[in-house]
Amino acid sequence: MLKNYINGEWCTSSATNYLDVINPATAEVLGTVPLSPGTEVDRAAIAAADAFTTWRRIPPTERVQYLFKLKNLLEEHFDELARTITLECGKTLAESKGEMRRAIENVEVACGIPILMQGDYLEDVARGIDEFTIRQPVGVTAIIAPFNFPGMIPFWFMPYALACGNTTIIKPSEKVPLTMQKIFYLLEQTGLPKGVINLVNGAKEVVDAILDHPIIRAISFVGSTPIAKYVYSRAAANGKRAQCQGGAKNPIIVLPDADLETTIKITADSAFGCAGQRCLAASLAVTVGEARETFTEAISEVAQTRIVGYGLDEKVHMGPVITRESQTRIEGLIQKGIDEGATVLVDGRHPNISGYEQGNFIKPTILQNVNPKSEIARTEIFGPVLGLIHLNTIDDAIALVNSSEWGNMACLFTTSGAAARKFRYEADAGNIGINIGVAAPMAFFPFSGWKASFFGDLHGQGRHAVEFFTQTKVVVERWPKDWSRQF
Ligand code: NAD
Repeated sequence: MLKNYINGEWCTSSATNYLDVINPATAEVLGTVPLSPGTEVDRAAIAAADAFTTWRRIPPTERVQYLFKLKNLLEEHFDELARTITLECGKTLAESKGEMRRAIENVEVACGIPILMQGDYLEDVARGIDEFTIRQPVGVTAIIAPFNFPGMIPFWFMPYALACGNTTIIKPSEKVPLTMQKIFYLLEQTGLPKGVINLVNGAKEVVDAILDHPIIRAISFVGSTPIAKYVYSRAAANGKRAQCQGGAKNPIIVLPDADLETTIKITADSAFGCAGQRCLAASLAVTVGEARETFTEAISEVAQTRIVGYGLDEKVHMGPVITRESQTRIEGLIQKGIDEGATVLVDGRHPNISGYEQGNFIKPTILQNVNPKSEIARTEIFGPVLGLIHLNTIDDAIALVNSSEWGNMACLFTTSGAAARKFRYEADAGNIGINIGVAAPMAFFPFSGWKASFFGDLHGQGRHAVEFFTQTKVVVERWPKDWSRQF
């Protein structure tokens, strides 16, 4: 049974409901997670508020010492954490390692807080009057995470929250709570004062308790768009600041002059990496003009050669999807696409993965002739399914990107600088790739996202996170000369 970590202590939840944590490749039960009641959020919030009064007074240079320790502990336990991610989430070990690397990178960036958190100062805004800004922590914060990056996503926020002097509560996804449990054993070893960081396992009841708790001042959420919208509205109605990252439907555009080899490799990695369960996964490939024929042939060949299986097996390129329900939903959406007039170029449904018959596997799937107006072209599938659309001009392709309700990522493949600039300038998406799939921005850049893919204004990571986790105080000051004593 997994535990909560509140006020520096591991505690057994008083939950009466539990869920099994299931390995999506083998169906083996890895543990049991409590669906904690709201009262445990209340205990965590009170502990965090208490800790805040002293934690915010610790100099930033001292606060980051705990993060330096955390960085070292994460490095020491790197392989074990990556393995845990693969066990509970299904992705390959290489993908899990990539995820943990980005988590650590965020700790490294937050260690720069003594500089990142500085305010601005201007002397003589009027004669003898100086004005400056100070960045102060906001107080108790909370982080609510999705299932697809159990190690990385809380790190888009947590290191910055702590470094800025806030205290925090983390609620991992109930589908993949094991990685955060292990990370909390490491956080405990850093010697962070009690109450500074708390873990409450659970689902909706925990989220609702966070949203309504009067002590909690700021909420960072990542998950599907309907829940992101819900969290954002309820947090705002309760006077909290919120940054809520939602779902996506990401197009990549292939122009006729694109380098085919690079384009195919990157498209396949982007569409089928993590079994398509990434908010930055390419899910539509739009070929322009003569790009259609060569691209279609090459991508279908690569899709068929991807090795699908258990993520711990080194030769495997792609693991299972998270649950049996996800698998059924994805297979249903593929059928929906066919019913809407698309044709199946590569069909990955119901594969036989020898030795893993209980796993939730779908092999890479490609749907051709997808109608841009159809549901399959507009719905987030969150599985290894790539839809192909053909258009005549780059303007048509940009119009397609901009007509989408989503705005997480859009990519262009071309060898034309002018086309690249036009795309970068005109495409309405928060993350843009030129001859590259956007895997996730580096930690020192914000993880952007527009339209229905994001609710809020300040994103996770880098300077945006520092701004989110601080409130600006403006001080205007006058010390008239005649008040100065002559020494
Ligand atoms: P989800 O929305 O089902 O769950 C996310 C979190 O919300 C979990 O902690 C869950 O316990 C909680 N939750 C679920 N239902 C709730 C409800 N009714 N009320 C209150 N809380 C609730 O998302 P998921 O399936 O875990 O993750 C996949 C989704 O996350 C995809 O849509 C994906 O695109 C998105 N995602 C977005 C980003 C991004 O940066 N934009 C990154 C990763 C994942």
